Amino acid sequence: MSVPLLDLKAQYQSIKQDIDTAVSKVFESQLFINGPEVKQCELAIASYCGTKYATGVSSGSDALVITLMAEQIGFGDEVIVPDYSFFATAGAVVRVGAKPVFVDILPDTYNIDPAKIESAITEKTKAIIPVHLFGQMADMDPILELAEKYHFLVIEDAAQSIGAEYKGCRAGSMGHYGCFSFFPSKNLGCAGDGGIVTTNDETRDELLKTYRNHGSKIKYHHIFVGGNFRLDSIHAAVVLAKLPYLDGWSEKRKSNAERYQKLIEQYHLLGNGILSLPVIKESRHIFNQYILRVERRDELVNYLKQRSIGCEVYYPYPFHLLECFQYLGYKEGDFPVSEQAAKETIAIPIYPELTDEQAEEVIRTIAEFYQC
Ligand SMILES: *Cc1c(COP(=O)(O)O)cnc(C)c1O
Repeated sequence: MSVPLLDLKAQYQSIKQDIDTAVSKVFESQLFINGPEVKQCELAIASYCGTKYATGVSSGSDALVITLMAEQIGFGDEVIVPDYSFFATAGAVVRVGAKPVFVDILPDTYNIDPAKIESAITEKTKAIIPVHLFGQMADMDPILELAEKYHFLVIEDAAQSIGAEYKGCRAGSMGHYGCFSFFPSKNLGCAGDGGIVTTNDETRDELLKTYRNHGSKIKYHHIFVGGNFRLDSIHAAVVLAKLPYLDGWSEKRKSNAERYQKLIEQYHLLGNGILSLPVIKESRHIFNQYILRVERRDELVNYLKQRSIGCEVYYPYPFHLLECFQYLGYKEGDFPVSEQAAKETIAIPIYPELTDEQAEEVIRTIAEFYQC
């Protein structure tokens, strides 16, 4: 039995009517840019995340870029980011001309280690981008405290964590901004590239809406140089159609995680040091990815792939070892926790439509590899 890492066709089949109706409505209107769906989507996402405002944008990567632009963060400025995340977190900082400053992660949640942030702060620090990796929020209290003490901004990279909670607060509602992605593999995906930025500050929200439109509020009156960072009506319509299902999907992901834990115990994979489970520290984990830490990771990846069991490595390289960041002068050994995570972690299928049989097949195959 083959098990994909993600089965978007199964999701589409289950809500085909809703999606097709929403999409054809946009076609009937032909309002592909700034259609009414964009505003509706912004209101719905702001309400879902517990924020006052939201601005639809062209992608999760651009959500980070436009936020930095709106704050005029650029050349000569520093932005603190975890050393371990999807590339865009650090890439966005460089795209606006600023310098990313990396900080090591925690070994259990893979999120930024709050104890290691203070030594990375300088007079040039303008912002921190904590990432809520894999569906679980970073430890926000100490981050917000440091930001207040040293006067810099908190830009949450919540691309993988829509609906996740920390002490009852939703991802994207705790910092000055929350950046989300509607990339199809996220828990709430659109029909291509899309994203959104949440904020509780009206002035900031207005700035974002101006920057995404080449810096103009009134046509041809450009106040700043922004860009084309708009969210298409089609994508907004798809997000709106899917949003009512999101909590159900996140619940399914959570019960899949619980099922995996039982199966892993059942197959005697625990307690012998070859495998460790994801650690849940915060109040709501939405399991965008289910991450195991394993021995002989690369061999296991090959073994599973040969047997058509979907798996992936998120991420094989920490930022500081990437070629494009060599100019920053970091070296191997600088961030041992993220280096180790890059060598030992594997993502296995956790999507909502995963069946009992498929889940068992995944764990049975892993047990077979370790001869448990
Ligand atoms: C997906 C992702 C992004 C970028 O989102 P895109 O919509 O693909 O541009 C940024 N940060 C993190 C942590 C992500 O997982």
